Amino acid sequence: MCEFCERFDFGNARADIRDGHVGIAIAGESSKFPKEEQFRFCPVCGASREEVTMNEHKVQASMIITLTNQDIDDIMVTALEGGINNWCCEVEVIGEYLGEYASDQISRGGTLRFLEIEESDMNTDITLTSFLEGVKLCMEHGILPVDVDGNIDAGMVDAELADCIVQYGLFGEIVYG
Ligand SMILES: [Zn+2]
Repeated sequence: MCEFCERFDFGNARADIRDGHVGIAIAGESSKFPKEEQFRFCPVCGASREEVTMNEHKVQASMIITLTNQDIDDIMVTALEGGINNWCCEVEVIGEYLGEYASDQISRGGTLRFLEIEESDMNTDITLTSFLEGVKLCMEHGILPVDVDGNIDAGMVDAELADCIVQYGLFGEIVYG
């Protein structure tokens, strides 16, 4: 093993072969490539990924994250005002308006439907349950601004992160990068 593979996160890269082009693809900050797509050997010293990861010790920690209704409304405003615009052309309130704005819907137990620019078969109805799942997945990817007590700082959630919460909630992954 070498310094490169001891510090390199194998989840960050994969060989990219498509349309006659070959290269190396780097994962975005919020995602990792699945194990079967990652490099199998260190590109510097040739150690196998298995050999490298045998050297690591992992422990799973959990954390309770607390969001107020206001936090959720703020994040939804950020998502609706721009975060989701590159894949969603319209947001539909399902049923009655539960607050004044569409962004009030989720914290009050309602449902929003995101109409995609390019239609797909995916479920695009978000509820409080799926929103919270999105929050959890963002936490697991280390991109959620929370303090040591698990309180979220909604003011730090920018358009890109609000979009990540929505997409992780809807799809379980980032579909639209
Ligand atoms: Zn190495």
